[in-house]
Amino acid sequence: MNYDKLRGCELFLFDMDGTLYLGDEVYEGAREMMFDFPNMGRKYIYLTNNSSRAGEDYIQRLKRLGFPCERENVFTSGMATGLYLNKNHPGAVVYLVGTQAFRRELLSYGVRLWDGEEKADVVVVGFDTELVYEKLNYAVRFLRAGAAFIAANPDWVCPMPAGQVLPDCGSICALLTAASGVEPTYIGKPNRNMVDIISNQTGIPNEKICCVGDRLYTDIAVAQNAGAVSVLVLSGETDEEMVNEAERKPDYVLPSVKELHALIR
Ligand SMILES: [Mg+2]
Repeated sequence: MNYDKLRGCELFLFDMDGTLYLGDEVYEGAREMMFDFPNMGRKYIYLTNNSSRAGEDYIQRLKRLGFPCERENVFTSGMATGLYLNKNHPGAVVYLVGTQAFRRELLSYGVRLWDGEEKADVVVVGFDTELVYEKLNYAVRFLRAGAAFIAANPDWVCPMPAGQVLPDCGSICALLTAASGVEPTYIGKPNRNMVDIISNQTGIPNEKICCVGDRLYTDIAVAQNAGAVSVLVLSGETDEEMVNEAERKPDYVLPSVKELHALIR
């Protein structure tokens, strides 16, 4: 196996759950690797599709788990949605189906959130763990009246410990599509937009960026869509059989981030 492409990467984008930890259980070698990044002369960003929490919440969580993390080290699908709205729908009235944390995140980007107006220009949906019927009702009304439909992340479910799942953003969108006939534009992984924004902000070209994660259809697909390098770790939801069956293979498959660290240090 030739690791030149991997070793040539300047920036590593890490998925979190299933890659660095599961729930509150941090994987062996994960913290050591993250603390070694400055010594390796490389940059890193924690990249998540979870739009139920704000970037600030992730900084707190990662620090609590013993990982290094500053503001510039976190990028969420919620943050990507804020940037996308500013670029593509500046000044638009946005109706949000999302958590209070997502609401704060969008406000921090200067997004104009719906405040009782007759209609909204854009309906934005996230992983809304605070969902109530009224939000669905308004969203369907605005979508049927022609509002654009933007979704933070396409995940159907969010994995939980002991094999449980929570209904995620993709499932909420499926309900809204059924009622309105409108399909959303998804912002998070595997949309290459996540990598493109980071490349623009850091000045590092996509081919020098490496995406590390445990899911083929999000973490690896985003790398492939963006022309970045991909590393699948087998510490999460994907096993070797699933890799063998995959149409598009990751550039590298490793047991865990511990082996990744050994290869790039
Ligand atoms: Mg994961």
